[in-house]
Amino acid sequence: MNINILNEAELALLKQYINQSEHIVICCHKSPDGDALGSSLAWADYLEGQGKNPTVIIPDAYPDFLQWLPNTEKIVRYDKRVAEADRLWAEADLIFCLDFNTSSRVEDMQGVLDKSTAPKIMFDHHLSPSMETVLTVSHTEMCSTSEIVFRIIWQLGGFEQMSRRCAVDIYCGMMTDTGGFTYNSSRSEIYFIIGQLLIKGLDKDKIYRNVFNTYSPWAIRFRGYMMYQKLNVIDGFQASYFTITRQEMKHFHFIKGDAEGLVNEPLKIKGMKLSISLREDDRKDHLIWVSLRSVDDFPCNRMAEEFFNGGGHLNASGGKLQCSMADAERVVRDAIIYYEKLLKS
Ligand code: 5GP
Ligand code: MN
Repeated sequence: MNINILNEAELALLKQYINQSEHIVICCHKSPDGDALGSSLAWADYLEGQGKNPTVIIPDAYPDFLQWLPNTEKIVRYDKRVAEADRLWAEADLIFCLDFNTSSRVEDMQGVLDKSTAPKIMFDHHLSPSMETVLTVSHTEMCSTSEIVFRIIWQLGGFEQMSRRCAVDIYCGMMTDTGGFTYNSSRSEIYFIIGQLLIKGLDKDKIYRNVFNTYSPWAIRFRGYMMYQKLNVIDGFQASYFTITRQEMKHFHFIKGDAEGLVNEPLKIKGMKLSISLREDDRKDHLIWVSLRSVDDFPCNRMAEEFFNGGGHLNASGGKLQCSMADAERVVRDAIIYYEKLLKS
C-alpha cells in the first residue's frame, strides 16, 4: 500500500523549510474540532522530535471533550493571549496552516496570518485551497487532515520514533472527522493507518468514549429537547432543520460542544437526505451559525456556498447568516425548495 503523498520535489522542499526554520507556528481554523486540533498537535509533536520548538496557535476555544487530548497544555489561544500570540506571529519564520483552505477560516487571526511574510505550508482536505503558500498539500479524498499528517510523517521516516501521544492525536482527528468511521471512511488506507497507530499502544475504545460519551445531564436533555420540540421535517423533501436560540442555550446551561454532531441526528430518519441546524451566536445579535449534513451525493457545500456564505465538504458543510432567526429559517426553506429536484430524486 502506498502511503506516501508527496512527490520528490515537495518532500525535499518540506524538509528544507523545516530544517532552516527556528520559529515555527502551526495554526488551524476557528472553533477547532478534533481534526484541526489532532492534526496540529500531532504535527507539533513530530517537529519537537526533530529538535524544533513549534507553537500551536488556535483562534479560540475548543470543546471540553477534546481537553484530554495529549499536548493541549501547550496550545496558545489567540483570543485569550493576544499579545503573546502576536509576538509569536511576528517572530514566525515558517507557518503551517492545518485543516483549512482559506485564511478567512481563522477569523480573528486572519489579519496576522495574511500580513505575515513567513513562508506558509498548507496541509488540508477541503475543496478549493486558496492561499499563497510555498507548499500546498491538499487532498480532498482524505478523511482528515490528521490522515495527511500521518502520511507525511510516515514519508519523512518518522513513524518509528512517533510517540504514543502523537498517535493518539492522529487517531482522534481521523475518528472525529469520520463520525467514528461511519462516513467518508471507506478507503482501505485508513485502516492500514489505524493498524499502524495501534502498534503505538493507544486505546481506541477509550478515545471513542472520551470524545463521544462525555455529555453532561444538561447536554443530554438539551439534545433530547431539540429533537422532540424543535425538529422541522419538511414533508416530501427528505430534508429537515432545527434552530437553537440563545435563550435555549441559557436554559440548558449550554457549553461549547453540547450541540456537537447533533445535526447528524436527523439523518437517522429513514430516507432523510439533508439536515440543517441554525444556531444563534452566544454573543453577537443577528449572527446565525449554519451546519449542513447530507447523505449520498447531495452537495451540502454547494448549498452552503449559494445560500449560507460558507462551504465545506460534499456531505458536511457550514456557513453563517447575518439576520434574525426568522429570516434564517426563510433562507433554509428557500434553499430546500431550490434543491427540490435533487432532494426528491
Ligand atoms: P460544521 O458544521 O462542523 O461547523 O462544519 C462542517 C464542515 O464545513 C467542516 O469541515 C468545516 O470545515 C466546513 N465549514 C464550516 N463553515 C465553513 C465556512 O464558512 N466556509 C467553508 N469553506 N467551510 C466551512
Ligand atoms: Mn478536517
